[in-house]
Amino acid sequence: MSETQTPPAAEGRKIPAPAVTIESKPFWDAASEGKFLIKRCNACGEAHWYPRALCPFCFSDDTVWEESPGEGVIYTYSVMHRSPTGPYAIGYVTLNEGPAMMTNFVDCDLSKLEIGQKVKLKFQPTEGGPPVPVFSPV
Ligand SMILES: [Zn+2]
Repeated sequence: MSETQTPPAAEGRKIPAPAVTIESKPFWDAASEGKFLIKRCNACGEAHWYPRALCPFCFSDDTVWEESPGEGVIYTYSVMHRSPTGPYAIGYVTLNEGPAMMTNFVDCDLSKLEIGQKVKLKFQPTEGGPPVPVFSPV
């Protein structure tokens, strides 16, 4: 028999509370209600992530919050097999609105993740803070 400890399920990974700033507070307030917000620029029409006051494409300050269904595809990913809390996967998702965001993949067989696979956002609780966006295959 192996003397190594059995790693807990991936769901057992504790996620620290995210840092909430004045700029990101509307995002986290919405996340606490289960809503996923991105920002869109009224000047050039582009959506962006992460949320910023100034549009990263044209530097306009005419940006507005927009609720997103949180659907997209895996752009790239990496599975961490050796971790004290068990295997997990991180990567980038390209949202249907256009922006790419770094995230964790949960509730799935990590060996079956594929680039281009459709994924959907869900919120995962954190320790004492608002929930953070993660993704699962659909
Ligand atoms: Zn813009």
